[in-house]
Amino acid sequence: MIRIKTPEEIEKMRKAGEILACVLDILEEAAKPGISTKELDAIAEQVITSYGAKPSFKGFNGFPASICTSLNDEVVHGIPSEKRILREGDLLKIDVGVEVDGLHTDSARTLIVGGEVVNDKVLRLINTTREALEMGIKVAREGARIGDIGYTIQKFVEERGFSVVKALTGHGIGRQLWEDPPVPNYGRKGKGIALVKGMTLAIEPMVNMGGEEVFTASDGWTIKTSDGSLSAHFEHTIAITDGEPLVLTRRWEKN
Ligand code: MG
Ligand code: MG
Repeated sequence: MIRIKTPEEIEKMRKAGEILACVLDILEEAAKPGISTKELDAIAEQVITSYGAKPSFKGFNGFPASICTSLNDEVVHGIPSEKRILREGDLLKIDVGVEVDGLHTDSARTLIVGGEVVNDKVLRLINTTREALEMGIKVAREGARIGDIGYTIQKFVEERGFSVVKALTGHGIGRQLWEDPPVPNYGRKGKGIALVKGMTLAIEPMVNMGGEEVFTASDGWTIKTSDGSLSAHFEHTIAITDGEPLVLTRRWEKN
């Protein structure tokens, strides 16, 4: 069932989303060589709860942490651990969910630990994924179809020689972290359900440097690329309006 949100619900999601943007800013700053992903998780939980908000991921389907941290060939859903110490040049994906008054938001970023670009192709992978998300957001307007989002993302990514993960998708979001409809990162123009004002969606391209195939690691959570290639991930929660989509997981002044 697709839930259309009231303006009050969207306003609460916007509050949650702004906290989430702050958390990601803080984590990006903290993600230096030598820190463990467990320490990043502790920082995130502390910041989220200091706002009186809740980490959406903690306990979701039994997930044991407040954020997901996925390194290099790990695509998404990596579990923070004291054993995973960040190293210079690691490709780190941080995924965070924040709940305010029963309403959830979800957002993710990819960064190079230490910030130094050692490989132009890695930078191109990151930029392509970020731009694919922006392009997907741009077409998410009332009257467009879900397939238009996926078509736009897939075309852009594949033209640059990378592949989109098809085994996992974006999703509706709001009262639940995962709601209908699924938002695939592939699709056909003009196909799928129509986008309507008040729909709230998490759009999240996962882009592999090699093939699209992925598998679940032995921890039961971490999704990895089958060929061991690097993967990038960016995500925003947006609301469909009668004009430009509203990006809820961005600082307000940037909207
Ligand atoms: Mg996410
Ligand atoms: Mg998501």
